[in-house]
Amino acid sequence: MYQFSRAIYRELAPHLGDPGPGDAVLSNHMRVLRACESTVERLATDRYYFAKPARTLFGEIRVYFPMSAQRRVYQVVCAYIGLAQRYLAQDPVAAYMAVSGKPLQCRATTRKGEACQRVPLAHNGYCPSHQHLAETEHRELAAA
Ligand SMILES: [Zn+2]
Repeated sequence: MYQFSRAIYRELAPHLGDPGPGDAVLSNHMRVLRACESTVERLATDRYYFAKPARTLFGEIRVYFPMSAQRRVYQVVCAYIGLAQRYLAQDPVAAYMAVSGKPLQCRATTRKGEACQRVPLAHNGYCPSHQHLAETEHRELAAA
């Protein structure tokens, strides 16, 4: 997953604006890289509750870029977050492992109140015995 945050940062680094007075050049680079990484981490671990990742990341980092680069920044962010989402949809287990170091587990809680330990399906994050929860969730979202 970090290949996506690194790619965003690499594309954007040359466009970074001049630092404010008393602000080191390096710190803005660090902030942008860190924002890209945390977006990718959140995507991989919490993608069902992360509604607009590209917009969120753009909102976080746009202040570090001059007006003339805003369009470019937005395009780069959208392109790579889109790629990251596609990668994630194909292999959520590997993506989760890559950022958390732990295997991905079903999103459900068992009747005993513990997290379900089973391996989830790629398309909704629930294991086969908890598929019904995905349907309930879908209905609730549609109703909201
Ligand atoms: Zn389960």
